[in-house]
Amino acid sequence: MGAEAVQLHTQSPRVWRPTGLRDDDLARARERLAASPVVRVAACHGSYLVNLATADRVLLDRSRGALAENLRVTTQIGAAGLVLHLGSHLGSGFESCLRQVARELVRALDAADRANRGRGLPPSRILVENAAGAGGTVGRSFEELAAVLEAAGWDERLGACLDTQHLFASGVRYETLAEADAVVSALDATVGLGRLGLLHVNDSKVPFGANRDRHENLGAGFVGAKALGSLLSHPAFDRLPAVLEVPGPEKKGPTREDLERARAMRRAGLRRRRRAARAADQGPATRPPRRAPRPAPGGRTGSRPDRSP
Ligand SMILES: [Zn+2]
Repeated sequence: MGAEAVQLHTQSPRVWRPTGLRDDDLARARERLAASPVVRVAACHGSYLVNLATADRVLLDRSRGALAENLRVTTQIGAAGLVLHLGSHLGSGFESCLRQVARELVRALDAADRANRGRGLPPSRILVENAAGAGGTVGRSFEELAAVLEAAGWDERLGACLDTQHLFASGVRYETLAEADAVVSALDATVGLGRLGLLHVNDSKVPFGANRDRHENLGAGFVGAKALGSLLSHPAFDRLPAVLEVPGPEKKGPTREDLERARAMRRAGLRRRRRAARAADQGPATRPPRRAPRPAPGGRTGSRPDRSP
């Protein structure tokens, strides 16, 4: 399908039991990924069951085991990092679980690096993902993600993954170029752009601020083509890998067409950025009076990529 970046689950993300991949299977996967003429970056996604914020000792213990296995596969296939949802404190409050989450992250990375010693592998890496904000999820804002990274001593093996649907559902707008720029500035001021390792490009099945993690095909949801174009075209993201986690036209995952749609949205955003820069150069007196139409209430902008007039 022409994807230069891929994201893989290291096992079924909804069961605890590992798939039982052997070290030599993983070494072969690493060789094939490295030899691919198309794929340049692979990332892995952690199990959905992992909850590093839980107060339940049994669940925490299982989470440790699953995370260790996720990290083993991620590092041995040479993936750039393991994207991880940090979990939920289920209402007991962010402050109460902050230290535990940070400690567990560092502990998992230390254990993985010990297990991989002498194998010629790079250090293991975890990318903490921003959350949509449902039910006490940790990482619902840039400030929360930054607090976790800080509590983990800004460990170099920790990075971040930004999901556009979670961002929108958590109540952050990026419809206009100015709003998108403000989002990137806020991310830089908290997490730091240098920590950002991956983008998850998704539209939303649920409205702005709904705090639910529900992905929709690009341009067909409440985020819309314009907002996605505004954010994806930001120069800070120029060299950043991005993956789609959308249902696809037949709910079998994204297709080549979905990928092309994402690229078209970014190009449309880049054109708007160039026009905006030219208009700023010419000064307010010569700026064209016509403005782009406002999206319909709810932020929905239709399913077609943004086109210049
Ligand atoms: Zn995601």
